Amino acid sequence: MLRRLLTQTSSPRRLLSSKTPFFSKPSLSPFSSLPSSPDPPSSASSHVEESGSSAAAGTTISVDRSALFNPPDHSHEPTPDSELVKHLKSVIKFRGGPISVAEYMEEVLTNPRSGYYMNRDVFGAQGDFITSPEVSQMFGEMIGVWTVCLWEQMGKPERVNLIELGPGRGTLMVDLLRGTSKFRNFTESLHIHLVECSPALQKLQHQNLKCTDESSSEKKAISSLAGTPVHWHSTLEEVPSGVPTIIIAHEFYDALPVHQFQKSPRGWCEKMVDVGEDSQFRFVLSPQPTPAALYLVKRSTWATPEEKEKLEHVEISPKSMDLTQEIAKRIGSDGGGALIIDYGKDGIISDSLQAIREHKFVNILDDPGSADLSAYVDFPSIKHSAEEASENVSVHGPMTQSQFLGSLGINFRVDSLLQNCDDEQAESLRSGYWRLVGDGEAPFWEGPDEQTPIGMGERYLAMAIVNRNQGTPAPFQSLPCLRSEYLLKGRMYGFEALTFNIHGGYLEAIVRGHRAGLLTTADYNNLCQCENLDDIKMHLSATKYGSYLQNEPSPLHTTTIVEKCTLKLVDDYKHMLCQATEPMSTFLEYIRYGHMIDNVVLIVTGTLHERDVQELIEKCHPLGMFDSIATLAVAQNMRELYRLVLVDTPLAPYFSECLTSEDLDDMNIEIMRNTLYKAYLEDFYKFCQKLGGATSEIMSDLLAFEADRRAVNITINSIGTELTREDRKKLYSNFGLLYPYGHEELAICEDIDQVRGVMEKYPPYQAIFSKMSYGESQMLDKAFYEEEVRRLCLAFEQQFHYGVFFAYMRLREQEIRNLMWISECVAQNQKSRIHDSVVYMF
Ligand code: SAH
Repeated sequence: MLRRLLTQTSSPRRLLSSKTPFFSKPSLSPFSSLPSSPDPPSSASSHVEESGSSAAAGTTISVDRSALFNPPDHSHEPTPDSELVKHLKSVIKFRGGPISVAEYMEEVLTNPRSGYYMNRDVFGAQGDFITSPEVSQMFGEMIGVWTVCLWEQMGKPERVNLIELGPGRGTLMVDLLRGTSKFRNFTESLHIHLVECSPALQKLQHQNLKCTDESSSEKKAISSLAGTPVHWHSTLEEVPSGVPTIIIAHEFYDALPVHQFQKSPRGWCEKMVDVGEDSQFRFVLSPQPTPAALYLVKRSTWATPEEKEKLEHVEISPKSMDLTQEIAKRIGSDGGGALIIDYGKDGIISDSLQAIREHKFVNILDDPGSADLSAYVDFPSIKHSAEEASENVSVHGPMTQSQFLGSLGINFRVDSLLQNCDDEQAESLRSGYWRLVGDGEAPFWEGPDEQTPIGMGERYLAMAIVNRNQGTPAPFQSLPCLRSEYLLKGRMYGFEALTFNIHGGYLEAIVRGHRAGLLTTADYNNLCQCENLDDIKMHLSATKYGSYLQNEPSPLHTTTIVEKCTLKLVDDYKHMLCQATEPMSTFLEYIRYGHMIDNVVLIVTGTLHERDVQELIEKCHPLGMFDSIATLAVAQNMRELYRLVLVDTPLAPYFSECLTSEDLDDMNIEIMRNTLYKAYLEDFYKFCQKLGGATSEIMSDLLAFEADRRAVNITINSIGTELTREDRKKLYSNFGLLYPYGHEELAICEDIDQVRGVMEKYPPYQAIFSKMSYGESQMLDKAFYEEEVRRLCLAFEQQFHYGVFFAYMRLREQEIRNLMWISECVAQNQKSRIHDSVVYMF
């Protein structure tokens, strides 16, 4: 798995980004040649990254293409014209005048006979530049996380066209397929379509994806990596539509041709490429408006007044706008989404076109076809083009690559990989990681300042275009806020990386992606505006619950909404469980036991009150179901309950304290519920302690809070009942902040204010009680839920622990409680009460 990383041992150096204007003065005369740009700054060599200590011993050079740079003067030494140069000159001659920079760029890169990309492998140490998938396998793997999350939001369609635009060597796709191989339903749904103009690179992709041809055509094969069909096309239009689609474009837009404009006293002129008297290419300005000026006008309508004022040069890419429109129309009608990652700006681009040969910046006009040409990507123009093309899509971002990969959980990925590699691989993983996420902004950096990472993290931006039915894609919903207290703790647990298993890391990354899909305060505000339950359904259609509710007929009932949202939660849980290996699967199982206990109590109490068993079973929480649950109804007493049914369930060990022959009356059943819960919490607590590390630390906090909350509830609910003080005390779990002294005090409380008196001695609980007036306990549940949510969210800010799975499930349950409350208030026309019980998360 780490084979590729072995070959990369580059130690990144800071990449400069110099922005001296390309032209010193605009030229007045039509077609007059322009002054050449100044020499590169003396620090030019820092644009190059080397590995190994001795240049003689095989220097590995790798420059990414994001460093905006002024190319040096091109050499005027006469060399025989290449085929491409001859072709370009003949086009200029035939036209009787210069060609646009865009036309020049397109010919140089993709001319079928001798374009730069057409006949060779241009990537990596032996090539001209390096891209993120070539820097580290983790890049493709994280794109895999993104893709699986989106596929889930799409309702897990059985067939998906996964299109990659400009796949280069195919490395990203290889890593994506390997990383997602455990998600069988996902990989089985895939039909891969690679859009690639270069026959040489198509061959390389075929090879790297380990494809075998389907008899008739080379353009159709099966990748043995995941048994997936792979097709090749030279344009996106050729890819069949009508199927849910996921599109990935990494470093594709930057290769699309740009027109360059320059302000002159005559107004905006297009920069063109001509042949001078010395038979060399040179830049000239167009004497009159060119057709591309239409796009300039369009682009300027999307620019801010400040941008417009400052502009002297503008780069426009009509091809990018057209491509985006095609993408948006497809996504709008077929469903799915597109991810665009490239270096660029969240603003208008002035002049960024650059040429790179063998990891050095060279003049754009020098020996065309032998160097890569690329330009900064204009993200606002992508956004506006998409929005213009289809009403059915929404555009998200851009956010920096660092935020994008960080929020998807690359930290966990790197640390889980680190546990299984040798020193050389570890060095390569670390440097690859920092190269991907570093550069000035490194929100996840916890080390010393002088080692603040550098790399591609800030200059590369990520943007998503998704069908509105899919809601907001991960991780664009909300960025994790980093709290110093947890970061500090995170550092203490650096060693966790050594024990956190690889699979755990990958699943954790997925859950972090899911977590970003929790409803936000803005979502709740929208829901609170709803007039009826169909409105609520409509608002939820853009969320993960959308596909679960879409076929529900009107009029809707609150129970349907709750049922369907719970179904989604259960599906997500099962998905996690399928992927999990030990000890995580046991940990996940523990999360269900609380629901099992509640279900047992529901059936037994219902039977006592002669309710229909089937009806009771329908009311059970699906996470707490077990095979023999219906049999519970026949038990007459505790012993029977155990012997007939529960002995075969995971709850059996918790029953030892309940094994009396007492009747099943309301009081005894309630005592049973709490006795079972106490045994369960103590067992779960011990299990987490055994797991050790951050899991133990975080789960101890969360379970202690749960134990204390239950102790308070047991106390308040038993005030004024026959339960003796001793019996009450027996129901409290033997851990938590209140254990043991608080328990002694709670056991003797006789009213709510005495409970309050006890709890206020414990600082973490003071805040909860201070929200209530004396003698009142109505708001207590909400105050406890709010505190719980705060703690659950904090669990996400610590790394390498299973607590995120617990926290995520609990947050989802809270979300469903919120939806139930809002729906009920809306249905009963009591909207003023909505805020009584909704607990906001972000
Ligand atoms: N995504 C890859 C490669 C980026 S380089 C990576 O990140 O490593 C750009 C890729 O787009 C190359 O594969 C190139 O051959 C392809 N390409 C460039 N212009 C193209 C065009 N107009 N049509 C189709 N493919 C193109």
